[in-house]
Order: sequence, then structure tokens, then C-alpha cells
Amino acid sequence: MSSLALDLTEEQALIRDTAREVARAEFAPRALKADETGTFPTENVRKMAELGLLGIPVPQEYGGAGAGVLAFALAMEEIASVCASTALTLAAHTSLGTMPIIDFGSEEQKRKYVPRLAAGEILGSYGLTEPGAGSDAGGTQTKARREGEGYVVDGAKCFCTNASYAGTTIVTAKTDLTAQGSRGISAFILEKGMPGFTVGKKEDKLGMRASDTVQLRFEGVKVPAGQLLGKENEGFHYFMKTLDSGRIGIGALALGIAQGALDKATAYAKQRKAFGKPISQLQAVANMIADMVVDVEASRHLIYQAARLKEEGRPYGREASIGKLFASEAAMRVTDKAIQILGGYGYMQEYEVERYYRDAKLCEIGEGTSEIQRIVIARETLGRTGS
Ligand SMILES: Cc1cc2nc3c(=O)[nH]c(=O)nc-3n(C[C@H](O)[C@H](O)[C@H](O)COP(=O)(O)OP(=O)(O)OC[C@H]3O[C@@H](n4cnc5c(N)ncnc54)[C@H](O)[C@@H]3O)c2cc1C
Repeated sequence: MSSLALDLTEEQALIRDTAREVARAEFAPRALKADETGTFPTENVRKMAELGLLGIPVPQEYGGAGAGVLAFALAMEEIASVCASTALTLAAHTSLGTMPIIDFGSEEQKRKYVPRLAAGEILGSYGLTEPGAGSDAGGTQTKARREGEGYVVDGAKCFCTNASYAGTTIVTAKTDLTAQGSRGISAFILEKGMPGFTVGKKEDKLGMRASDTVQLRFEGVKVPAGQLLGKENEGFHYFMKTLDSGRIGIGALALGIAQGALDKATAYAKQRKAFGKPISQLQAVANMIADMVVDVEASRHLIYQAARLKEEGRPYGREASIGKLFASEAAMRVTDKAIQILGGYGYMQEYEVERYYRDAKLCEIGEGTSEIQRIVIARETLGRTGS
């Protein structure tokens, strides 16, 4: 057990254990098939809802557990260690689909949506990325023009996690066409079934294959003014804050994938024999295991530290970026070594570590690529001008 586990509160340990139990007993046996067929883990989502895992950091007054971001990260880690697609579904629902309403929404919006999201009655999603605007999300082309009491939204989004199954999708749109760069963007809460709001093609992906990734289209979607999230033209600021926090979740996702791959490689190395003894007794293999442990433990320290800073109300954006960057790249190294330790079997679907390797890659891309994390970290260290 990691020494960090000793510092957990009773509530955090309980949430971790709950997630661990259901992940190992129910999600793990379904993960291989779900990846192979690209089937959304509906049953896992239902189970997470039943156990209260869809509202971990949501304040109790809005129906959540009020258990904070570290407890959320712990649950993410456990679920990702057996089924990263389910963990990504949970991350998008919580960090992107629910928390922005808590952080920036009106009291009415919070009462209307958050208890249903926390209970898993509806799933949340978040559409920021567009075909022409990913890292450069300030380049949003989706537009919302004022009409009567509300807005009319036109445009498209891509790579939106959960959106086919979501009851609400928070989307960004340009509301002030005269504003330069990232200014003049607003966020809106769209509901499933709003006329003109359609979910497009489901993407076929390298990894995270059971998670839902889709395109969205908005054609003259009439959005009542009450669906504006926070203030008009403040959307860019909101999603930057949302991503800061979301990166703790993606870091925990990477950490869980790495831990899962390490566990599988360790178990295999102890039972696989070559040259008359278990391969774990070969120094080259033992060294790989040692390097994997160091990567996993270092990731865990960084992610927990960022989560703790956030819970203490201290600045945490830099630490979240550091944790996400390190854990994502560490997950690639660890899953690569896991395949190597399993040899030819590691290359086979049935032994699962090849899935961990494919799933890990997403962590270097989603919620800000590794290149963007380096920009954030350098900027925090050197200042905006670098001088
Ligand atoms: C499975 C999956 C799920 C996703 N889920 C969601 C979701 O739910 N909601 C959502 O809004 N988005 C989602 N995304 C989108 C994701 O956040 C973007 O793909 C990511 O931000 C990168 O944007 P892009 O794909 O347009 O790449 P680009 O921004 O075009 O980047 C291409 C390359 O250029 C590099 N680059 C770009 N700008 C710079 C720079 N300034 N300096 C150095 N290098 C740079 C990038 O790091 C990258 O290597 C998802 C993506 C995937 C793959």
C-alpha cells in the first residue's frame, strides 16, 4: 500500500474502498469486451449512480457527497485501474458536466440540474473543442446571437465525451463577435432534445473505446436566457478554471491506468518462468518493475498534492498541470513496460495491458495536451513574457 493512503480521512478511504470493490468485482470483468465492441458502459454508470460515485465532490446541499476533489481522484484512480473508459465517463460527467454549474451557475440552475446530475438521473457533458479550435479554444466559431429574451446558437463541436447519453451539455459560443481572441465567449447549458441541437457521429478511437465521443451540431438552437452559465462573455475564464480542476481528474485517470498496468505486470512476472525461474527474479525485469513503481508513486504524490491544495482553497492550477503532465507521460512509460514484461502475451488483447497502453495516450491529449501543460507550467514559473 502506498504511504499516501495512510493520510486519508475515514470518508476518503470509504469512497476509495467503495470504488475499488465495485471496480474489481463488476467493471473489470466487463472491460475487455466493452473495449473490443466499443460499447458504452451503461451498466457501470448505473452502478456508480447507485453508489453515489457520480456526485463525490458535489456539495451535500445539491445532493452530492460533499467529499472533495481528493476523494473524487481516489475513486477515479480505482476505476481507471480496471476500466479507463468508465473512469473517463466519470471524469467528464463530474469535472466538466457538473462542477461548472456549481462553480459558476445561478442558484436556480444549481437547484434545477445539480441534484439530478449528482444522483446520476442525467449524465453531464461539456463541449468546448471544435473542428478548428482545440488547444486554441479561444478560436471558438460557434456563435450565440441575442434574439428576444434569449439566444440562438449555431455551430459545431467535436470530441464531446458522454454527449450521446447526456441530459445536459455545457457549450461555449461566441456572443460578442467584435471581441478579439478569447474574449466575448459565453457558456450555455443545453438540454438534450432542444430543437436544432443534434448529436452526430460517434468516433471510433484508438483507446477509451467504450467511452462516448461524438460531434455536436447546433442549427438555430433557441436557448432561453436562463440557460446562460454565469455572466455573458465570461465563458473563457470559466472554462480555464474548469480545466484547472479537471486536470486533477485526468491525472488521477492516468495514475489509475498506470497502477493497473503495474499490478498486472507484477503478477505476471511472479508466475511466468524463463530459464528455470520466475522472470521477476531476472534483474532486467525487476528493474523495469522498480521504474514503474517510481513513476506510479511520483504521480500519486503530485495528484494528491494538487487535490489537497484545491481543498485548502490555495492556488493549485500549476500543481494540477504538473500532476497531469507527469502522470500522463508516466502512464505511457508504465504501460509500455507492462507490455514488455508480458512479452508476446502483452501484445495480445486478452492480456489487457495493450488496452491500458492505448487508453493512456488520451491522458496526454484531453483537457490540454502535454505541450499546453508545459506552456502553463513555464508561464507560472517565468511569467507571461518569460523574462
Ligand atoms: C477521447 C477524447 C475525448 C475528448 N473529450 C472532450 C470533451 O468532452 N469536451 C471537449 O471540449 N473536448 C474534448 N476532447 C478534445 C481535447 O480536449 C482536444 O483534442 C485537445 O484539447 C487538443 O485539441 P486538438 O485536438 O484540436 O489539437 P490541436 O490543438 O490542433 O493540437 C495539435 C498539436 O499541436 C500542439 N499545439 C497546439 N497549440 C500549441 C502551442 N501553443 N504550443 C505548442 N504546441 C501546441 C498540440 O499540443 C498537439 O500536439 C476530447 C478528445 C479526445 C481525443
